Amino acid sequence: MDLSPLIDTQGRTVRDLRISVTDRCNLRCVYCMPAEGMPWLPKDDLLTYEEIARFARVCLDLGVTGIRLTGGEPTVRADLPKLVAMLNALRPGLDLSMTTNGLKLTLMAEELRGAGLRRVNVSLDTLDPKRFHQIARRDRFNEVIAGLEAARRAGFAPIKVNAVLMRGFNEDEAVPLARWGRENGFEVRFIEWMPLDFQHSWERWKLVPAAEILEQIDAAFPLEPMRVSDPSAPATLYRYKDGNSTVGVIASVTRPFCGHCDRIRLTADGQIRTCLFALKEYDFRNAMRGGASDQEVAELLRAAVWRKEPGHLINSPFYKQPKRGMSAIGG
Ligand code: SAM
Ligand code: SF4
Repeated sequence: MDLSPLIDTQGRTVRDLRISVTDRCNLRCVYCMPAEGMPWLPKDDLLTYEEIARFARVCLDLGVTGIRLTGGEPTVRADLPKLVAMLNALRPGLDLSMTTNGLKLTLMAEELRGAGLRRVNVSLDTLDPKRFHQIARRDRFNEVIAGLEAARRAGFAPIKVNAVLMRGFNEDEAVPLARWGRENGFEVRFIEWMPLDFQHSWERWKLVPAAEILEQIDAAFPLEPMRVSDPSAPATLYRYKDGNSTVGVIASVTRPFCGHCDRIRLTADGQIRTCLFALKEYDFRNAMRGGASDQEVAELLRAAVWRKEPGHLINSPFYKQPKRGMSAIGG
């Protein structure tokens, strides 16, 4: 099998595979999904854990060095630790991480860590339980906080917290979340709201730009930029001048970082997306179920990556939102 790395026409090399293990979720965040009526994927369309592990093995052979599990909410898929163990067995010590809303970490953090999960990002957009209920449309704030503590007890470190700020909901929480992160040892990352919600309710004026978030935090706790160690990392990081940890912004809309993107995404139903905002998907489920050899899977992947989009078009008048939302793509 040709083991040369996965490169595209822009000279970028794919190193990071995001795997959505399910499109389902136990929350309904307003920036992600409608309150009701989500069209879930049929169960038979989901890749089995064996199919996911096979695809991941081919990717690792082609130079992928990190895998992140996401969704939907990855922890709602049955036996998730089994998948973690299968992936870890492919390459013990693999940089294996997960993005989760944290609700099920009280039950699963230890088992996931034991199975080989190395890092977790937990999403939390507010410190106010009532607001949490408004944003996530479920009254489950306390479970996220308990989940964060469970992750810490299980030995995950550092724990990153993802926050999306929206006008009219939680735009005033940059400083409170930053302060809470400093005081509790969580590295908070503010993600700009992207036009990837299922219900297409995104409007530019509703997103809180990274520059505004940083200005507010800097006024409360002076910041200095950190030297970039990994240019392909989506977060721009800042250190608090008093030495009390770091904070980051993921400015996908106002400061796109597509030129350094090293990611591809495998959806829960086995489609490869070479960009979050891609309008095209490559069907690996049918290829694998139709008997494609590893060599053939690798060739299909190499061809897909070669055509990886140079960058997203959010800031162009020609932007067209993909049919699938973030939860189905795998954020
Ligand atoms: N359910 C898990 C969670 O919420 O962490 C994992 C999947 S979720 C799609 C992954 C991340 O994407 C979360 O941090 C979430 O806040 C973020 N997200 C969801 N929709 C988004 C959007 N339209 N723009 C920016 N970030 C979004
Ligand atoms: Fe679920 Fe995550 Fe989307 Fe919230 S952001 S609805 S937790 S998938």
